[in-house]
Amino acid sequence: MTKLSPQLRQATPVVASRGEGVRIIDPDGRRYLDFTAGIGVTSTGHCHPKVVAAAQEQVATLIHGQYTTVMHEPLRRLVESLGEVLPSKLDSLFFTNSGSEAIEAALRLARQSTGRPNIIVCHGGFHGRTVATASMTTSGTKFRSGFAPLMAGVVHTPFPTAYRYGWDADTATKFALREFDYTLQTLTAPADTAAVIVEPVLGEGGYIPATEEFLRGLRERADKHGFLLIVDEVQTGVGRTGKFWGHDHFGVTPDILVTAKGLASGFPLSGIAASEELMSKAWPGSQGGTYGANAVACAAAVATLEVVHEEKLVHNAEVMGQRLRAGLERVGSAHDAIGDVRGLGLMLASEFVTPQGDPDPETAQRAQKAAVDEGLLLLTCGPFNNVVRMIPALIVDEPAIDEGLRAWAAAV
Ligand code: PLP
Repeated sequence: MTKLSPQLRQATPVVASRGEGVRIIDPDGRRYLDFTAGIGVTSTGHCHPKVVAAAQEQVATLIHGQYTTVMHEPLRRLVESLGEVLPSKLDSLFFTNSGSEAIEAALRLARQSTGRPNIIVCHGGFHGRTVATASMTTSGTKFRSGFAPLMAGVVHTPFPTAYRYGWDADTATKFALREFDYTLQTLTAPADTAAVIVEPVLGEGGYIPATEEFLRGLRERADKHGFLLIVDEVQTGVGRTGKFWGHDHFGVTPDILVTAKGLASGFPLSGIAASEELMSKAWPGSQGGTYGANAVACAAAVATLEVVHEEKLVHNAEVMGQRLRAGLERVGSAHDAIGDVRGLGLMLASEFVTPQGDPDPETAQRAQKAAVDEGLLLLTCGPFNNVVRMIPALIVDEPAIDEGLRAWAAAV
């Protein structure tokens, strides 16, 4: 009998028959509260009627109109809609199908446009599973080991992970920036550096928000030395953190923005945005892909952006995020095993530690599994897999947050 590959270990035993808003429904009709949202993908909830209608209509009109051959209406409209939410400087767009592919597109553009080989990445960052993006990923050895040699030209630098060091955010930021300068003296000369890439909130690396001083520091150094700032908004974009883009919290504008996940409510679509001047430095044919900017995915993305706007979902993410965070902090303060509660907007997590303060993956995973028994779907993350994260759809409301918190308290 054929089976799914064993690498795809499911975090829950749940079989999904249907998705409805913030719920997954199994074949027996049991309804689970889904605080994973397909790993931050179903931003407007499962099967939002407007997204469903737009996709259904598009399927019956044009499924695939390859973008190097023809322009199609959903793509034209998507470019227009994204223009309303992107920083004005980032006026040129290119589309792919997954986060990893978009990161690779950003990497190619950075190398081609600067003519420099090296890319600086942050410890704990996750940028994908292709060989190039895995080379840029340090949120766990499982993403890197066993298929070396990895891509050359990747240089690592610390992220301000205050909690792990037992520092405050200010100390962690100063340390990370000092180490960044040291990296530019020891590992990659500025003239060899094409770009630095950073997540506004480390995602797979444990839901650790960056700090304003850190991102501003990276921006200043990029400007001073002529390399690019790439912001990986694959997980933090499209309202997830309570602002439209994660970098909006930190008052910096990237040279290249990478988006995916929540952009099309579950259809595979990703892309990069940069200035036209920069984008035109990638030569024709060097970027592309058969399925990029698929017409149905683009139609779903246009509908997603409309729903995000009409239903004020960015604001909802901020307000519901505050409610969820307050509840998580209450649960955290009642249990010594939870050492830290953190995140931004609706990208929140609880870190489990032993009485000595070391990572405690066993307790985290037991809590995650107990939550499933309570009807709440959750995922873990972090290099030690000791962080339980909550990323509900942006449409989540107060009753669902409170229900999720009751289930979480019972599970913990
Ligand atoms: N970048 C970030 C920040 C991510 O969280 C992810 C996926 O989780 C990726 C890139 C890779 O995206 P994908 O799995 O769609 O290739």
